[in-house]
Amino acid sequence: MIASRMSQIDSSGIRKVFDLAAKIKNPVNLSIGQPDFDVPGEIKEVAIESIEKGFNHYTPTQGIPELRDRLSQDLKEKQIQFDELFVTSGVSGGILLAFMTLLNPGDEVLIADPYFVMYKHLVNLVGGKPVFVDTYPDFKMTAECIEKHLTPKTKMVALNTPANPTGVTLSEEEVKEIADLLKEKNIVVLSDEIYDQFIYDDKQASVGRYHPLTLTMGGFSKTYGMTGWRLGYTAGPKEIIQEMVKLQQFSFVCAPSFAQKAGVAAMDFPMNGKIDDYKRKRDWVYDELKDHYNVTKPGGAFYFFPEAPDQDADAFVKKALERELLIIPGNVFSEKNSHFRISFSASDETLKKGLQILKEIS
Ligand code: PLP
Repeated sequence: MIASRMSQIDSSGIRKVFDLAAKIKNPVNLSIGQPDFDVPGEIKEVAIESIEKGFNHYTPTQGIPELRDRLSQDLKEKQIQFDELFVTSGVSGGILLAFMTLLNPGDEVLIADPYFVMYKHLVNLVGGKPVFVDTYPDFKMTAECIEKHLTPKTKMVALNTPANPTGVTLSEEEVKEIADLLKEKNIVVLSDEIYDQFIYDDKQASVGRYHPLTLTMGGFSKTYGMTGWRLGYTAGPKEIIQEMVKLQQFSFVCAPSFAQKAGVAAMDFPMNGKIDDYKRKRDWVYDELKDHYNVTKPGGAFYFFPEAPDQDADAFVKKALERELLIIPGNVFSEKNSHFRISFSASDETLKKGLQILKEIS
């Protein structure tokens, strides 16, 4: 009964972790992929008000003009090149539309391994071919490693900085080198910048500043703790955006109306306090773990991706679970299973307990 394309997607490994979690009463949960803070009250007010005022119907497919204008202004300030932008149902919505719009069967998409799971499954779903670029041990998807994997079938490169699951960021120089390489070959970059506000050392490096064939994607989910509101955007070349919008019209239709209104207000709302707090957590976790694990200090997002003892993530995750600590084995995000992901998007109390267990079982 089920279409064969569905066999291209195996149920997310994260789900298996959730099932395990359900068996533990009070897990020390360091597996969460979203902020531990709520949407700020002022932004909620705007959403509530717009619902109460009756702003509850379809919006234009591209998104409401005031949000598009505000996003457009923001991208221009960052000197990111684009002809058009539209509002999506989260960055996830943009990713699906991009793959559907651009990939023919057999077209190759370069994906850094470890990767954000959605890339692999959605490329497969549309009949494309994910080509994994092994970025161990420093998790940097550089121009040099991209170049080694280019073939005449390469259509796109998925770039994610700061990255999930490693937190690793690319520098301005590194994205420029990638742009120089791909510009020459007319290869599209899907630049997933959902963690662009969660950046602790450098400034955000956007490949779209240097490569016109870039789909720059960003979102509100992580920055404002509104993962359930489904709000993001994609900006890029006119001919691609227009096709993506056409498909949005016949699929997502539009992003949630009230969330778009709230999104406009959110863009002027300072989140520095929260980000500073995440930086403090990042420094703290690194200081605690660095003498016990082989671990890269993440420059952004809210994840660490340390190496598991004996490079056996399954055995290590099992050991952690015995201590009621929930972490995610590397093979959920990778073709390898030598590392594990911890999220520091948790209360200090939870982090303290988790770090203690991690030190004890190292
Ligand atoms: N891209 C990356 C790298 C992510 O980690 C996530 C969420 O975990 C998303 C995209 C999805 O974001 P959204 O909620 O905007 O769909």
